[in-house]
Amino acid sequence: MPAVPGAAPARPAAGAPGPAAGLLDQFGRTATDMRLSLTDKCNLRCQYCMPENGLEWLKKDKLLTAAEIVRLVGLGVDRLGVRELRLTGGEPLVRADLVDIIAALRANHPELPISLTTNGVGLARKAQALADAGLTRLNVSMDTLHHDAFLQLTRRPFLDQVLAGIDAAAAAGLPPVKVNAVLMRGVNDHHAVELLDWCLERGCELRFIEQMPLDADHGWTREGMITAAEIRALLGRGFALSPDPRARDGAPAERFEVRRPGTGELLGTVGIIASVTEPFCADCRRTRITAEGKVMSCLFSRTEVDLLALLRAGASPADDDAVTARWQDAMWAKPKAHGMGHPGLGDADFVQPDRSMSAIGG
Ligand code: SAM
Ligand code: SF4
Repeated sequence: MPAVPGAAPARPAAGAPGPAAGLLDQFGRTATDMRLSLTDKCNLRCQYCMPENGLEWLKKDKLLTAAEIVRLVGLGVDRLGVRELRLTGGEPLVRADLVDIIAALRANHPELPISLTTNGVGLARKAQALADAGLTRLNVSMDTLHHDAFLQLTRRPFLDQVLAGIDAAAAAGLPPVKVNAVLMRGVNDHHAVELLDWCLERGCELRFIEQMPLDADHGWTREGMITAAEIRALLGRGFALSPDPRARDGAPAERFEVRRPGTGELLGTVGIIASVTEPFCADCRRTRITAEGKVMSCLFSRTEVDLLALLRAGASPADDDAVTARWQDAMWAKPKAHGMGHPGLGDADFVQPDRSMSAIGG
């Protein structure tokens, strides 16, 4: 595991324009990957994320508007060095103005990679419009190909819609989707090989995400979660895995080449995001904005910095300066590590944030 850089860099002037100032933190990392939540609402109730009865949704006037989103992304890209954008939630497809938001972002930033993480429900109807609006890539979350396990995990019977969404994305000319999967013991861990086989056949890149303690029910336990080591062992029952020689380059997923046992034929790659047991905080490049305009410097952060009030105070250059300065302040204070799985930092140092994953934006 790479060491967290220790030397504190010089702090750039607050609000100083240009990527040189950027979203730097006191441990020398610079955030260039913006994760923006478009809504806290969702139409699934995944066990590892939301409670069975849902959460109280934010009132509409508390959500970033489309114009505020476009302005914030503009400040991030033009003044703070943001180089890629991921739209997430909650479930971003439930936002009625999603296609308009993507079209506006694309018009302002022709070269910016813009990806969307979605549960795929309703995607079949929207895939073409998303592609036409200029979306670069889709990540679809799908933990199993079995209806009963899907129902158990998400508490909704929508697997066929997700499958249709993945097909529609391909038909719309979007690049092969990346599939995100969380494994839960006794529910879908025994489906891992089958899911990888299915993804490889379609040219989709599957990424397993270790279950993190970000569920609203606070049901996560270290003993209960399936670790990256277990995921590798599970996949080893069907495939031969070896580290992908390409540089990881700050990506959260560690990639493996997948080969057919016996012949050694290269079938594709698989990613494993081991945020809990093999954390990659030292290389983190992410800055997160919640649906109500709060900066979270880390998924596990218990500190939030509000940008919405500043955005709504005015739209003059001085107001923009104030927004970027506060965003920079929030990122400067990013913790060195999240406190789980780091040598010398036991889980005892970790306190689960009040927000669940759906309310942060994964
Ligand atoms: N609703 C969309 C979806 O499910 O793709 C976007 C938001 S969701 C919060 C983003 C990703 O976070 C999904 O891939 C989901 O599987 C993952 N996720 C949610 N809760 C998680 C948890 N406790 N641990 C690990 N991954 C989680
Ligand atoms: Fe909704 Fe995504 Fe959370 Fe599942 S993981 S409940 S789809 S926000």
